[in-house]
Amino acid sequence: MQYDLAVIGAGVVGLAHAALAVQAGLKVIVLDRDARANGASVRNFGFVTVTGQGQGDTWRRARFSRDVWAEIAPKAGIDVLHRGLLMLAHSPLARQVIEEFSADAMGDACTVWEPDQIRAALPYAIGSGLAGALHSPHELRVESRTAIPKLADWLAAQGVTFQRGAPVVGIEPGRVRTSSDTITASHIAVCPGHDFRTLFPDVIARHAPQECKLHMLRLSDPGWRLPHAVMSDLGLLRYRGYHVCPSQPALAAQLAAEHPALIVDGIHLIVVQSADGSLVVGDSHHYGATVDDFAPESVDRNILDLARATLNLSKSEVIERWIGVYGSAERDAFIETPDPRIAITCVTSGTGASTAFGLAQDTLQALGLLP
Ligand SMILES: Cc1cc2nc3c(=O)[nH]c(=O)nc-3n(C[C@H](O)[C@H](O)[C@H](O)COP(=O)(O)OP(=O)(O)OC[C@H]3O[C@@H](n4cnc5c(N)ncnc54)[C@H](O)[C@@H]3O)c2cc1C
Repeated sequence: MQYDLAVIGAGVVGLAHAALAVQAGLKVIVLDRDARANGASVRNFGFVTVTGQGQGDTWRRARFSRDVWAEIAPKAGIDVLHRGLLMLAHSPLARQVIEEFSADAMGDACTVWEPDQIRAALPYAIGSGLAGALHSPHELRVESRTAIPKLADWLAAQGVTFQRGAPVVGIEPGRVRTSSDTITASHIAVCPGHDFRTLFPDVIARHAPQECKLHMLRLSDPGWRLPHAVMSDLGLLRYRGYHVCPSQPALAAQLAAEHPALIVDGIHLIVVQSADGSLVVGDSHHYGATVDDFAPESVDRNILDLARATLNLSKSEVIERWIGVYGSAERDAFIETPDPRIAITCVTSGTGASTAFGLAQDTLQALGLLP
């Protein structure tokens, strides 16, 4: 069988390539070494974030990806669980940053909410020190753990071939070798997640990628419903888009002085809600060439303390914990074409669920498969 495109990796980035390629009428095969989706793509928040993404390619890719998610989700039977984002500001300086952001072109359609408005929408938000919030209408949230398998099933129904349990051990123009088979394909898209050492390690090494480990928690139903994803103002440090704000460096210094333990563990707060009412709460960031698999309780406690200082969680308890790993580098993502028929696409930041379709579009254009 001759394919137009072989995709290595069935995470969100690989599936996004397969989706755009099959929609363009191409014959596509997806190969993954694992028997089922198991990587960063099913461990994340499922939070397709536009506002706050880094200026330029990441923001452009996120807006495109959000639109594709919105179009494909109903076709693939994937529920959009909530839309939009509320970034809570807990100091006058954080309020200044969100005001500056909403006045910038990247704050398109965002508004600044007063504390009264926040209390009306989120009566369970802890009010003390609340100085305002940035509301963004752009985001959507899916349950990645079920959405990724549903997306793969839908792609299979559209004619995409899947080979799982198929570690790819070698690639040359026109050919992909797995541990037990050889696939012929005129074009090849390598989407290996944070496996930087198996395929084209020399090309990937030019970006000096590291691993980043994150702690994640699921809390039982708190007895209320979130209208939007909620973030604390520590996110104004982590998300690169907010770095356009003139007051952001002063806020960074203030938060570092106020919350040294959170800063050391790279903690900021994202809270999203699942269909059963449970909350996905995170996260932390620890970096290394190879991160360890251990999850110290102190990190979870700091995340929980921050969540409890932000929202009334008196009825919630931790019901699940996990860690996830993604690639990290200076740039949010990179696309390399070591040969005109082969592309390597890696997300090196916590943005892959938000940008996968935009990245796939850029990669398929680089391969000459899309106009
Ligand atoms: C805890 C956590 C929270 C996050 N939250 C968000 C969020 O809210 N929003 C957001 O936008 N992003 C978020 N991210 C980031 C996002 O999840 C990642 O950027 C994205 O999932 C990367 O997708 P991927 O397809 O590149 O990688 P992966 O999901 O890791 O998939 C790569 C696949 O390639 C396969 N593979 C690798 N090498 C081979 C080989 N040689 N042969 C065969 N198969 C191979 C692997 O088995 C794997 O299935 C988060 C990440 C984590 C860990």
